[in-house]
Amino acid sequence: MRKYEHIFFDLDHTLWDFETNSRETLRDIYQELALPAYGVADTEIFISTYHHHNEIFWDRFRKGFITREELRWKRMWRTLLDFKIMDEPLARRISERYLEILPTKKNLFSDTVEILDYLTGKKYVLHLITNGFEKTQHEKINNSGIAHYFTHVITSENAGIMKPHKAIFDYALEKAGVLSHQSLMVGDTLDADIIGAIGAGMDSVYFNPAVPATGTIKPTYTIDNLSELKKYL
Ligand SMILES: [Mg+2]
Repeated sequence: MRKYEHIFFDLDHTLWDFETNSRETLRDIYQELALPAYGVADTEIFISTYHHHNEIFWDRFRKGFITREELRWKRMWRTLLDFKIMDEPLARRISERYLEILPTKKNLFSDTVEILDYLTGKKYVLHLITNGFEKTQHEKINNSGIAHYFTHVITSENAGIMKPHKAIFDYALEKAGVLSHQSLMVGDTLDADIIGAIGAGMDSVYFNPAVPATGTIKPTYTIDNLSELKKYL
């Protein structure tokens, strides 16, 4: 008997090309809301400033220091401050449009569909465990055409808890009706996907060529691209 039967994937930055999709969304907003008129002179600087603050606010949200609502508009408010713009209604408007436009974007990594087809062909049962909002994450997988690959889609919103907490992995395993040692978690974030999988007794695949795994956190496998999963599955 083979070791793994169920494969749990993270979504953002693992299957769905968050970076590219987010950039496209921010470029759309930059035009639509005429940000140059407010003094935001450069799209690319606007985008990198936003991504910088988004990381910081997501970290605070994960740790429970701020609410979902605060995360949504304050990351944009803080971005505008860097351009000397103090305009809460504008921050809220951008945030609203960002959440509306982002999940309509369709960019996946180049080998996402190929690997999902490969694993489905080999009769692995596939699921998602994603820290994100229920409506948003479902829109992303529907619009990018990958929803049909997954039996269960576990979002932190429907589970009521986020990765890396053990409870969301336990919840996912229970829903899938599978034991932890027959399951594999694939994700790009050490602090969420890999630490979480280890805590839940699951083997893990760390997919992130940019940030090597550090000494204390030991994923079972490390890959540079999704196609490399074929070596293990
Ligand atoms: Mg991710």
